Amino acid sequence: MKMWETKCSGCGKMTPANQCPQLGCYVPTEGKYENSLCKPCWLKSTKMINKVVITPQTYIDMNKEFEEDDIPFRISIPTQEAIDKWQSQTPPPIGVVHEHDMVAEMWAEHNRIEEERKLQLELDL
Ligand SMILES: [Zn+2]
Repeated sequence: MKMWETKCSGCGKMTPANQCPQLGCYVPTEGKYENSLCKPCWLKSTKMINKVVITPQTYIDMNKEFEEDDIPFRISIPTQEAIDKWQSQTPPPIGVVHEHDMVAEMWAEHNRIEEERKLQLELDL
């Protein structure tokens, strides 16, 4: 008995259903299965999802957002080599500890600015 085939949404090849790591769902209006992926396409797509691309631009964008939101906090921009080194060392996802540090730093910076503002006020009086 021939296994029924489903069309891979990645390369468009008809692939036996038992060789598809990802089987799409049946779309009645189309009369066919959509979003099926053959093994090579599935591997490609999962690799793309797992590999988060971080570039110095990522940090520049983050700083821009801080600026727009008027948050007195800036991230120093690392070099691409530093990011690559860090990414190859640190298994994803990024740990909670790292995130916590960032928040703590942000608060420290915020408090420092508040203190300075208060001092400035006292001097003005
Ligand atoms: Zn394919």
